[in-house]
Amino acid sequence: MVRAEGVHKSFGHAHILKGIDLEVNPREVFCLIGPSGSGKSTFLRCINHLEKISAGRLYVDGRLVGYRQHGDKLYELKEKEVSAQRRDIGMVFQRFNLFPHMTALENVMEAPVQVRRESRAVARERAQRLLDRVGLGDRTGHYPAQLSGGQQQRVAIARALAMEPKLMLFDEPTSALDPELVGEVLDVMRDLAEDGMTMIVVTHEMGFAREVGDSLVFMDDGVVVESGHPREVLAHPQHDRTKAFLSKVL
Ligand code: ATP
Ligand code: MG
Repeated sequence: MVRAEGVHKSFGHAHILKGIDLEVNPREVFCLIGPSGSGKSTFLRCINHLEKISAGRLYVDGRLVGYRQHGDKLYELKEKEVSAQRRDIGMVFQRFNLFPHMTALENVMEAPVQVRRESRAVARERAQRLLDRVGLGDRTGHYPAQLSGGQQQRVAIARALAMEPKLMLFDEPTSALDPELVGEVLDVMRDLAEDGMTMIVVTHEMGFAREVGDSLVFMDDGVVVESGHPREVLAHPQHDRTKAFLSKVL
């Protein structure tokens, strides 16, 4: 579903991603861990072309992200084509970024109505179903300010799902939450995983990685240091950098 081949990313002289190679299979829960500043968020942002990679190749669902290849040459996609690619990718951030002046239901309906020109009736029905699914069927009329952080994050997940993405990207979705609210968001993610959604999850929740993850990659300083099955990597890290990192977070 996602393939990175020698992906580099620089911001000016700052070389952030230094040749990332990895593959995420359909239906896989792919967890990404690593110290602050190692390039995890940058990599996620490259996947939906919020950042342009500096070198290498990045594919989502067999298609180059942001470019079209013709012979040996790459041509940048037009903004409209980039938006169309992005529509297949749902993203959930650390901060929920809900529209504050809209109810939970309206937040979830917004993109299908505005972007996909869906009728409000159809969008409303799906939004209701998705909010039921994340356990908020009785909160559809609440505004973000009337919801807890965990509830807001679950609305954000429902909102991403409303566009029926092929791939979901999560960037530390629980790290801004009070500890007692983390579990309800992880439960929703676990449900999604069981349903077969392909997910890349940047997280510090090692319990989630161990129980739900199919693969775990430890990234440091813009390179993949170590990867494997989460239980294997967490129990028997091979590299000193992985050991040092895990000893701090486990
Ligand atoms: P954290 O765990 O703190 O979220 P991270 O692994 O997600 O860290 P990134 O946010 O990807 O790390 O940042 C990696 C490096 O890239 C950092 O040194 C950051 O300052 C730099 N960086 C990220 N975005 C930009 C940008 N737009 N311009 C310049 N530098 C940037
Ligand atoms: Mg980050």
